[in-house]
Amino acid sequence: MLLESNLNEAKEGKRISAKGYAVNHKNDTFKPFTFSRHSLGDNDILIEILYAGICHSDLHSARSEWHEGIYPMVPGHEIAGRVVAIGKNVDKFKVGDFAGVGCMVNSCGECDACKKSQEQFCQNGKVVFTYDCKDCFHDNEPTYGGYSNNIVVSQNFAIKVPNDAPLDKVAPLLCAGITTYSPLKFSGVKKGSKVAVAGFGGLGMMALKYALQMGAEVSVFARNKNKEKEALDLGAKALYDNTNNVSERFDLIISTIPTKYDPIEYVKLLSFDGELAIVGLPPTDDNVNISLNNLIFNANKKVYGSLIGGIKETQEMLDFSLQHKIYPEVEIISINQIDEAYEKLTNGSAKFRYVIDMKTLS
Ligand SMILES: [Zn+2]
Ligand SMILES: [Zn+2]
Repeated sequence: MLLESNLNEAKEGKRISAKGYAVNHKNDTFKPFTFSRHSLGDNDILIEILYAGICHSDLHSARSEWHEGIYPMVPGHEIAGRVVAIGKNVDKFKVGDFAGVGCMVNSCGECDACKKSQEQFCQNGKVVFTYDCKDCFHDNEPTYGGYSNNIVVSQNFAIKVPNDAPLDKVAPLLCAGITTYSPLKFSGVKKGSKVAVAGFGGLGMMALKYALQMGAEVSVFARNKNKEKEALDLGAKALYDNTNNVSERFDLIISTIPTKYDPIEYVKLLSFDGELAIVGLPPTDDNVNISLNNLIFNANKKVYGSLIGGIKETQEMLDFSLQHKIYPEVEIISINQIDEAYEKLTNGSAKFRYVIDMKTLS
């Protein structure tokens, strides 16, 4: 049994053997891959991964669309599972607890950003992303993500998940949830706020649900009208398939669009002191830019970028989601269907968030 040998490795302070699915270059398909993770440190927990969500970022990373990837690459930063071993100083988890891991696994812990639990912006450049990153706390070895059977992570970067939570739906919250929850909080969305969500995939859907729960009136921009009924059924006020002839004005627009577009189109739809939050990250080749000439003529509006969210806020998001039963729509797939899922994400036909059931990894 693999789990049994992992437990022995953890106990003996050895590296933890792992298996998952990886790509070996940017045009590759996913194949089984065996590797090892760093040993269980005093503050670390070993998680047996039960579910891993597939995020659009995984696809961008696997295909080196943002920067040259580190291969072999095991993507996955929407991880939910069970704690199976703990280091001797761990007090946040005990064996048997459920835990989640999102986009980060470590940071310096000392800079202003880290002290404010905005670890993703670590000012010492020591944020360690869950995969496709060099782990400066472990001899710069590459990190491997959640399309695998286990992960070793500092307890400070693991999120507590109650044992009755639906783990398959919790997994995608660790990225899609926090990425949309964070800007809604940052922009102070409250009852009566007028919000629009641009891009209606996995992220857009979560933004809609959270904003509605916070009491906002929410409209949606999507590339076509296919999802109109779905949006309206969830409580959206309207779904627009383009930005022309829209008379509404919004206090906040969250753009989750992962492809080329003109952000100024959305700036124009903001109320007098409205805010445009950018969370979707198009490929660098798409050269999405904001025209300063147009921006200054649309003054008194704020445009800001938002990157996931800190660990403290991720815990807050998860508690909020569980309390209000706000979950993504998920489709469970087996681990040999990753390529198929990527294909559907690319051509826009993915209807739900794909989540890998790790029992299918044998
Ligand atoms: Zn993600
Ligand atoms: Zn830091």
